[in-house]
Amino acid sequence: MAMEILSREEARVQGHKQYFTGKPCNKGHVSKRYVSTYQCVECLKLSTAQWRSKPSNMQHMRDQWHIYREKHPERVKASRDAWRAANEGRLKELQQRRRAAKTRQTPKWGDRAAMIEIYAQARSLTKLTGIEFHVDHVVPLQGRRVRGLHVEHNLQILTKYENQKKLNRFDDYYGNEQDV
Ligand SMILES: [Zn+2]
Repeated sequence: MAMEILSREEARVQGHKQYFTGKPCNKGHVSKRYVSTYQCVECLKLSTAQWRSKPSNMQHMRDQWHIYREKHPERVKASRDAWRAANEGRLKELQQRRRAAKTRQTPKWGDRAAMIEIYAQARSLTKLTGIEFHVDHVVPLQGRRVRGLHVEHNLQILTKYENQKKLNRFDDYYGNEQDV
């Protein structure tokens, strides 16, 4: 993938965090650099990895984290809750992905971003309307006769009521199991 050549100044003006000149750093990486520090992205990656590879450093980081967590449990909980709230679609999709992975029903060609978006939409609809919406696999993952795939084309947003109706209808044919 060709990167756009930008001076640091141009990148800064355009609000980018990184820029790319096409020229190698002093270690020979032809890589992006950070606008804020001029630092080579590849060099930083390597020095971070090197730092992490030292067990005492990682232990220090874990200790710091434990201290922080004990001191500020409410902050830790708040940031975890905020992350979960902002990533509901992602979490829901992940849950299905894990389930489908067990039976190899998540092919690599699926568009993950599109799937996350569908789960996020269902959550938004539920919040917006107060009616519970589910993401349903058109062809069920767990059908007794046919097994659907966890891919975007096999997802649809239904109300809980519609989903329940579908379950009853498909029970005989597919041996459906509830998705959500
Ligand atoms: Zn470098």
